[in-house]
Amino acid sequence: MKTKNKIALSIGILLVVIVSLGFFTSQSTQIMKLNTENILKDNYNSVDYAQKMIFAVNSFYKDSVSASNLFLENLKLQEHNVTEREERMVTSQLRNDFMQFRHRPDKDNKIRLDETINHLIKLNTDAICQKSGKAVSDARDALIWTIVLSIASALIAIFMLIKFPKILTSPIKELLAGIVEISNHNYDKRLNFGPRSEFNEMASSFNNMAQELSQFQKSSMARVISTKQYLETVINAIKEPILGLDNEKSILFANQALTQIINLPAAEIIHKSALDISLSNDLLRRLIRGLESKKEEDNNSLKIYSDNKECYYDVHYLHLPEKSGTVIMLSDVTKFRMLDNAKTNFISIISHELKTPIAAIMMSLKLLEDNRVGEMNDEQKSLAQGIQENSERLLNITSELLKMTQVETGSLQLNPKITKPIELIDYAIGATRILAERFRCNIEVEYPETKMPKLFVDSEKIAWVVTNLLSNAIHYSPENSRIIIGAKHVGHNVEIFVRDFGKGIDPRYHDTIFERYFRVPGTKIQGSGLGLAISKDFVEAHGGNIRVDSEIGKGSCFTISFNVA
Ligand code: ADP
Repeated sequence: MKTKNKIALSIGILLVVIVSLGFFTSQSTQIMKLNTENILKDNYNSVDYAQKMIFAVNSFYKDSVSASNLFLENLKLQEHNVTEREERMVTSQLRNDFMQFRHRPDKDNKIRLDETINHLIKLNTDAICQKSGKAVSDARDALIWTIVLSIASALIAIFMLIKFPKILTSPIKELLAGIVEISNHNYDKRLNFGPRSEFNEMASSFNNMAQELSQFQKSSMARVISTKQYLETVINAIKEPILGLDNEKSILFANQALTQIINLPAAEIIHKSALDISLSNDLLRRLIRGLESKKEEDNNSLKIYSDNKECYYDVHYLHLPEKSGTVIMLSDVTKFRMLDNAKTNFISIISHELKTPIAAIMMSLKLLEDNRVGEMNDEQKSLAQGIQENSERLLNITSELLKMTQVETGSLQLNPKITKPIELIDYAIGATRILAERFRCNIEVEYPETKMPKLFVDSEKIAWVVTNLLSNAIHYSPENSRIIIGAKHVGHNVEIFVRDFGKGIDPRYHDTIFERYFRVPGTKIQGSGLGLAISKDFVEAHGGNIRVDSEIGKGSCFTISFNVA
């Protein structure tokens, strides 16, 4: 049965019971009222008439006329109020007895008359007793029925109170449970309220939705699985090691190349915490440490012993958008490293081997300049001058190359000692005097009067750096220009700077000029592109840093800075 009908039926039953209860109660009250009225009318009035007749008989001897009138008046009323079975006979007997008494009012007639009146009174009082007994039993019955009907309606009301909320809410509850299941991705959940339920439409809409979601899940799941397999195949086919982490640093994937170098099977690491595994795996620990300490764009190099040989990997950290994870990619640069080492060794040997013949050339030139060997004409002098300049340049280049190989092979040795910044500046000015004179540059020194902290540096190397900066400033400035060299104390640092007013450097190259062999495109002055790179290495080897501020057309200012705190 439909819920609507169930509610209507129950309320109908309750209504019928309440109406019956009301009807029954009013009927019972009416009957009791009638019973009381009947007793009053039928019997109490007869008793009243009889008592008045007794009074009339007793007062007969005093005033016979008015007593007779009173008697007859009440007798008449009694004759119209005959209600009991014997009463008619007793009432007509009473008339006869009174007629005899009026005719002959002796003692015998009076006794007979009194007896008949008393008989009438008894008849009516008995009837009153009997009727009031019946009224009491009627009232009791009515009370019982009223209680029974009240209990029945109360039970129906309680039943409705308990049952209806259940009837109404149970489909809603079931629907809610269904929605919870769906939200937990259990798309197999279906609702069934029976074929005749008015919630059937809602159930079938819900079931359709669940079915569509289930189909969608199956199709998208199949797509996800095939895409996953596709990606796994691609990742495994890549020769370079790759490791995927989620934002909790749990390992999502690792290709065969990676499992090989970390020496752990994929099954032991997939979906495990990389932090936990890194506790017992040195290589993974280094990768994770790099991930935590490096910023997004940073990459670093890793030396690994694999298959009993030294391998070098460049590590790239690819941070996925919205912090959803990181992919760590390693590229094998062992071959390049070996080639680079071979190149460095080669340059080192060549530079070293060149130094002796260059020194011999320069020695020979010195001898040539000596008049004792024979005087040269002007043309020969200018040729010798050219050889001298080129030999110096060659010597410079070979010494720069040697310095670079020292840095690259890690054989750079620092011999730090306490040095005044002014000593470094003076050295650089002295070393570039001839060059400055040739370019007619005016070198100014800016040195504070106040006490300048001393540096604890390898003075030979830092003097070389300052000289290199000053020589660049002279080279890249037009003739007759100003160059300022100086030092200042800034916070915990001592800074040595070289400022020129030359052509300046395009901001695009402010970082790259510190790379090896880089020269700003269009630079006409000859050079190796190594001076700033070596300067950077030397300064950083002391824990300092080098920077450039430059604007095209306005000049450049190179600054090296050392912490003196
Ligand atoms: P090199 O001077 O031998 O070419 P460096 O490493 O010293 O090598 O300098 C790299 C490049 O930076 C130079 O080729 C030049 O283009 C540019 N550069 C360096 N110093 C200056 C300067 N003071 N003014 C303008 N350009 C400069």
